[in-house]
Amino acid sequence: MTDCLFCKIVAKEIPADIVHETDRTLAFRDINPQAPTHVLVIPKQHHANAFELAQADDGLADDLLKAAHAVAVQDGVAETGYRVVLNTGPGAGQTVFHVHAHLLGGRPLLWPPG
Ligand code: AMP
Ligand code: ZN
Repeated sequence: MTDCLFCKIVAKEIPADIVHETDRTLAFRDINPQAPTHVLVIPKQHHANAFELAQADDGLADDLLKAAHAVAVQDGVAETGYRVVLNTGPGAGQTVFHVHAHLLGGRPLLWPPG
């Protein structure tokens, strides 16, 4: 997708602080972090949201979760605990319509979230 911000990050047309990469996923630090660890994990392939991702490509959602865990281990938050958030739709706060898992950790996380 030519006008998608995260596709441009995948294509390395826009810089990002990349912390993890596989053949199918990319993870980079959120530009406006809400926790000491706040990383966005995305599929390289464009899908608008989590449901479309799961529907379109068996196994890619698994890859996303495995990549999120790998980043949590890398950042030292896997033991203490972390949260993976997939905002889906504008009412849930989704602003970039290329599916991304927010990986949050490194501070106490309130439940329920706002
Ligand atoms: P959401 O609101 O769930 O769609 O999340 C979009 C996230 O993308 C927000 O947390 C933004 O801070 C983050 N973001 C927007 N532009 C960039 C960028 N160029 N690099 C890294 N993160 C970004
Ligand atoms: Zn995209």
